[in-house]
Amino acid sequence: MTNITAICKIFNQHNLNPKIELNYTNNFTLLIAVILSAQTTDKAVNIVTKNLFEKYNNPEAMLLLTNIELEEYIKTIGLYRVKTKNILNLCHILITKYNSKVPNNLADLIALPGVGRKTADVVLSVAFAEPRIAVDCHIYRVVHRVGITSGKNPTEVSDKLLKIIPNKYLLRAHHWLVLHGRYVCKAKKPDCQNCCISKYCLYYKNK
Ligand code: SF4
Repeated sequence: MTNITAICKIFNQHNLNPKIELNYTNNFTLLIAVILSAQTTDKAVNIVTKNLFEKYNNPEAMLLLTNIELEEYIKTIGLYRVKTKNILNLCHILITKYNSKVPNNLADLIALPGVGRKTADVVLSVAFAEPRIAVDCHIYRVVHRVGITSGKNPTEVSDKLLKIIPNKYLLRAHHWLVLHGRYVCKAKKPDCQNCCISKYCLYYKNK
């Protein structure tokens, strides 16, 4: 397997403080932004949430919107109808069960409508500084191309990464891998000539 510690050291030199690219103002808006980002770009989500979060940045406020009104705000992003329904149901649950707060553990998060393991991992990592690797299509691709680890599905890859990435890099590793997949190790045309970790990459070595 590829030397993950060496790769993390290089990412650390290039980007000391990587950040999520979704805009948010509190744990609630983070959760909503991550839900909205499923099968949609962060850029598209940030466009719709700019107006939405100005007025509706907590569960009570969000519930002032009707189904149709919320759909109108987010209609430019994928799966907006089902996301609308999930968000409004989720707001009810947050108010009645969690005192309007976003829960801080995996079991409660994934029980919420529209929240899967990936969404929960992002929220736990960004909002609660819990070491998590939310494996999306970018991380899944990078990890397999480079030869960092393998796995049949995102959950398996996530569990393996948590075991091999040194603790001191865990909080940032998620962002490094996502950003690397998004901007360098792109799906159709990886930019290997300008890749900072090419010397550790199996795909590059075998090319
Ligand atoms: S060398 Fe190419 S394939 Fe390997 S991680 Fe870099 S961009 Fe991706």
